[in-house]
Amino acid sequence: MESTLRRTWAEVDLDALENNYRRIRKHIGENVKFLGVVKADAYGHGAIQVSKLLEKLGADYLAVSSIDEALELRLNEVKLPILILGHTPKEQVDRLIEFDITQAVTCKAKAIEYSEEAKRLGGTLKVHIKVDTGMSRLGYLCSGDNFFTGVDGIVEACNMPGLDAEGIFTHFAVSDEPGEECENYTKKQFELFNDVINKVEEKLGRKFRLKHCANTGAVACYPKEYFMDMVRPGLLLYGYGEFAKKMGLEPVMSFKTTISTIKVYPKGTAISYGGIFKTEKTTRIGVLPCGYADGFFRSLSNKCSLVTKEGPAKQRGKICMDMCMIDITDMPSVDVGSEVEIYGRKNPIEDLAELAQTIPYELTCAVSKRVPRAYFKNHKEIDRELMLRI
Ligand SMILES: *Cc1c(COP(=O)(O)O)cnc(C)c1O
Repeated sequence: MESTLRRTWAEVDLDALENNYRRIRKHIGENVKFLGVVKADAYGHGAIQVSKLLEKLGADYLAVSSIDEALELRLNEVKLPILILGHTPKEQVDRLIEFDITQAVTCKAKAIEYSEEAKRLGGTLKVHIKVDTGMSRLGYLCSGDNFFTGVDGIVEACNMPGLDAEGIFTHFAVSDEPGEECENYTKKQFELFNDVINKVEEKLGRKFRLKHCANTGAVACYPKEYFMDMVRPGLLLYGYGEFAKKMGLEPVMSFKTTISTIKVYPKGTAISYGGIFKTEKTTRIGVLPCGYADGFFRSLSNKCSLVTKEGPAKQRGKICMDMCMIDITDMPSVDVGSEVEIYGRKNPIEDLAELAQTIPYELTCAVSKRVPRAYFKNHKEIDRELMLRI
């Protein structure tokens, strides 16, 4: 594995992750539980490593998006409760029960399927009821005229044999957006969620053990009452975005590459596919073994700068599948083998995301499986993972 690091790699700073966790913990207070969102391989950081650290630090719950992601954690000895936020086909209920995985229940049809399967298997499936309060994605629709049908559907699910409704949750659509309109929308979602809970608990005659709604935006920007029993931050935990910066959190991932080859071209040379960049003078170009197949978006072509030891170097020409080029004309000390940061502590991911007209989430999730993840503690590499089948 040693050789793989000198191509393109992602450094995952476990100390930064630990600091971020502790800061968020302090912010939410002692009586609020912490669910770490580790779906999509922990936003590209490596779900096993991240989950194990969160478990060690005392997190209370994890969330993933599919049963495969949940099983990956269970088969690697992660013991924390795991909530699947997305859909699981009923054929998998036996495995959910066997591996003690909590499933979101999002509508009447699913509740019936899960209940029937659990009954048939003679087991109990732990579930969290998902309420749609305005995200308009998954969940029992409870807004406006749908309030009472929504409430009745949830009560019915909670009383179904084979299901243990441990929790209830909702998801905010605009809690991370600025402005009064978004604040009002989020507030309305929160109020509706509370109305639904109160009505359901009244009809059931018992209380949910875990009520939760706060994602990154709500954890960072909304009052403590929004934290309820448990918070569900993802992006914030990994230290990206304006809220992370405001809270003094650190970016966990640094995406890095090296200079593989250096060429000097005369004035007027077209660089890379399509020749969208032409040199204006004698130009020293570094070829980086990093392209869109590594997770470096092609839409950033000829728009961004990457950071060398002598500072930012302009990326030139189209970003290819496996390579791209940078201009290192006035950087004599930058040589073959020199490290280049695509994003990380020196080159903020937020800037690249904006240039690519996307969000940091999409960039970290796109770091591909051929990019080894190197895990750092105390500035020393303590572990490394490569997801290729070798
Ligand atoms: C992804 C997700 C989160 C975490 O969102 P962030 O914006 O990364 O904090 C929380 N809850 C649900 C239901 C999600 O799907």
